[in-house]
Amino acid sequence: MTGGPMYDVIIIGGGVAGYTAGIYLSRAGKRALVIEGTAIGGQISVSPKVENYPGFKEISGMELSDLIYTQATDLGVETEFDTVTGVEDLGTVKKVTTEYSSFEARAVIIATGCRHRKLGAKGEEEFAGKGVSYCAICDGAFYSGKEVAVVGGGSSALSACELLSGICSKVSLIHRRQEFRGESKLVETLISKPNVEFILDSVVDEITGGESVSGISVKNTVSDEIKSIPVSAVFVSVGQEPQNAIFSSLVDLDAQGYIDAGENSKTSRAGFFAAGDCRSKMIRQLTTAVADGTSAAMAACEYLRLN
Ligand code: NAP
Repeated sequence: MTGGPMYDVIIIGGGVAGYTAGIYLSRAGKRALVIEGTAIGGQISVSPKVENYPGFKEISGMELSDLIYTQATDLGVETEFDTVTGVEDLGTVKKVTTEYSSFEARAVIIATGCRHRKLGAKGEEEFAGKGVSYCAICDGAFYSGKEVAVVGGGSSALSACELLSGICSKVSLIHRRQEFRGESKLVETLISKPNVEFILDSVVDEITGGESVSGISVKNTVSDEIKSIPVSAVFVSVGQEPQNAIFSSLVDLDAQGYIDAGENSKTSRAGFFAAGDCRSKMIRQLTTAVADGTSAAMAACEYLRLN
């Protein structure tokens, strides 16, 4: 036993899926604990501008995260800032071990989201934190008036590019295809920016520099031509991947490493539920994460009632 309180539900991950589950659980009279290892709000907390969440015409991801956190906390959801290192199913009790402690609950909701995918380019690791960044909103201001590059063709890369175009002297947007996966409205906005250059059908071959990044070599995938571009920073925004390795012996994962759970959020193990981007699903959006948090909380309530 941990000696601490027995929670009804421990929610692993403090993104919107996790806190939505917490809000529903608290309102159902359950004692819920969110364990979050990095930042409240998860990925949305670093989105400069959210324009597709009903009720808010425009809001920063950080502001939205704060509002959700405050709402959940006011309703009684507890939060521990710690990193989960292991989860055990002891039958009626589930034990969640963290770096600094351990906690027990009758059910667990996994809402760990995804993490930034790496590019795999030469120099990416060497210059991480020295010009290679995965978060324009966090690091963009360091490159005020400088030339930078953004890599990727999804909405995250396009949003990062828009933000950086207002801070940096020039932004080169490097994408491996001609078509963008991200929203066309964002593409149109970028086309109208004089300091944004589209470098398409291209991949980053190498990130170079001394103490910090000073340039990139970019390869055109059609012509094989390689060109060097002087930049002070490279913002890598090529999507996400799940971080479910610690749950692999507990619940079934799909071939991509996402938790195998359907719309009802039930995993292969009773008493364990999955919500948000960490689960196998077609659409990973803020609104679908919110929906998942709701489903997981409802399923957990049903489980608690029957067990
Ligand atoms: P994403 O939509 O999966 O896009 C990833 C992009 O990176 C794709 O363009 C992909 O190219 C490219 N890519 C992947 N691996 C690469 C590699 N190794 N080298 C070069 N390029 C690579 O990811 P995301 O942009 O992070 O968005 C994630 C989710 O959040 C999406 O559902 C998105 O709609 C949502 N989101 C929405 C907003 C908003 O404001 N509405 C903002 C941010 C994110 P290909 O296209 O060729 O595969």
